[in-house]
Amino acid sequence: AHLDQIAAVDDRINAFLHVAADRALATADAVDAGRAAGEVLSPLAGVPLAMKDIFCTKGIPTTCGSRILEGWVPPYDSTITSRLADAGVVVLGKTNMDEFAMGSSTENSGFFVTHNPWDNTKIPGGSGGGSAAALASFEAPLALGTDTGGSIRQPASVTGTVGVKPTYGGTSRYGVVAMASSLDTPGPCARTVLDAALLHQVIGGWDPMDSTSINAPLPDVVGAARSGDISGMRVGVVTELGGEGYAPGVEQRFAEALEALQRRGAEIVEVSCPSFDYALAAYYLIMPSEVSSNLARFDAMRYGLRVGDDGNASAEEVMNLTRGAGFGAEAKRRIIIGTYALSAGYYDAYYGSAQKVRTLITQDFNAAFGAADVLVSPTTPTTAFTIGERVDDPLAMYKADLCTIPSNLAGNCAISVPCGLADGLPVGFQVMAPAMADDRLYRVGAALE
Ligand code: GLN
Repeated sequence: AHLDQIAAVDDRINAFLHVAADRALATADAVDAGRAAGEVLSPLAGVPLAMKDIFCTKGIPTTCGSRILEGWVPPYDSTITSRLADAGVVVLGKTNMDEFAMGSSTENSGFFVTHNPWDNTKIPGGSGGGSAAALASFEAPLALGTDTGGSIRQPASVTGTVGVKPTYGGTSRYGVVAMASSLDTPGPCARTVLDAALLHQVIGGWDPMDSTSINAPLPDVVGAARSGDISGMRVGVVTELGGEGYAPGVEQRFAEALEALQRRGAEIVEVSCPSFDYALAAYYLIMPSEVSSNLARFDAMRYGLRVGDDGNASAEEVMNLTRGAGFGAEAKRRIIIGTYALSAGYYDAYYGSAQKVRTLITQDFNAAFGAADVLVSPTTPTTAFTIGERVDDPLAMYKADLCTIPSNLAGNCAISVPCGLADGLPVGFQVMAPAMADDRLYRVGAALE
C-alpha cells in the first residue's frame, strides 16, 4: 500500500531519491514467513520506513543528497540500518535531503527540491525534508533523520509530524555520513509520539562501533509515550526563544499548548538562558569547522564521482575538478568558512571563542534544568516558507534553526510535536530535556496529542 502511495503522489512531492521496491517486498515476505512459522517478532516487524539518504545501506545507493556521491553503493550497513533489518522493519527507500545535511529547506539537494505536502509551494524543512514529507504524505508511517542543528525537528515542525533528536551518543553514528561529528545525532521521525518511541527503542542504545556512543541503558521511551502523565512536572518556558521575529500565529499556538500542559497538571515556570542568543553564531563556526574536516575525504579517489581523469591529469587536478563539480554552493561555502575558522592565526578568535560559548550554553541548560524538568519553545520561529524565498539569503535560512541549535551544542535531547495550524500550515512545539532523560520528551509529547 505504501509503495502504491509513493507511485501515486511522489511525482508531486519528490520525497524519495531512491525507492527500493523489490527489497522492500522481499523483507515484507520474509517477515510474513517468520510470522507464519510462529517466530517471535519485534513490534515493528513488517512496518515500512523511509530512510534519509545519509545512512549507509549495503547494496542500495547512498548519496547524502550530493552529486559527488552519485552512483556510490556502500559496501556495509550503518548500525541503525542493521538494527532495523534485525527488527524486520521494511525500508522503502532513501529520502531527499540537503547536500550533506546542510540546509533547512531541502533546496540544497544536488538532485531536486522536495515539496511540503500541506502546500506544494512551501518547503518541507531540511535537511531531512524528504523523510518528513514522506510521513506527511502517507508514503511511509515511520522515517529516519539526523539532527546536527535541527534537521529532524524543523522538518517535523513544518510538516505537522513528530521528530526526535535523541541525546548525543544515544543513537549510533556508525555508518552515517558525517557532517559535524560532535553534533550529529540520528533519530526517529513519525506521525505519532508513540510511533517515534517504538522506533527510538529499535535504533537506540550503546554501539561499540561508535566511540562517542553512551554505554548506558536507553530510558523507557515507550513506557513514557504510553503514559503521557505530566502531573507535577515543571515546564520551563525559555524567555530567549520567543518575541521579536516569531510569527504571531506560532506564538499563539505555543501559548495554547502551554495552557493544555497546565490543564494536565504541569507547572509552568519561566527560565532565562542568556547565552542562547549566541548559539547560532557559535554553531555556524563549530559546524563548518567540522564540515571542512569531514568533507576532506571526498577526494575523487575513494568514493563516487571522478572528473577529469584522462590519464594525464595529476591527482590534485582531478581532486579540484571533482570537488568543483560535485559539491554544491552551500557545501563549498561551509568548507571555506570552516577552513578559514580553523586556520593558524584565526583559530583562537573564531573556533576557540565558539567553543567557549558552547560551554556557556551547556551551563545555561544545567541551571535551567535545576528550575524545570523540561524546557519548551516553538520549534521554529515561522511556519513553512515559500520555495525559493530564502535561497539567496543564507542568513535568513540559518534563522530557521534558532530554537533547535542549543540542544545540539549541549548534546541533550529534544522533540518537536505538532501543536495546530497557523494560516493553514503546521506549527511545532519543542520540548528539551537533559542528556539521557529522553523519556521526558515522550511523556510531554504524548500529553499534547
Ligand atoms: N539547518 C541546519 C544547517 O543547515 C541544520 C542541519 C542539520 O541538522 N543537519 O546546518
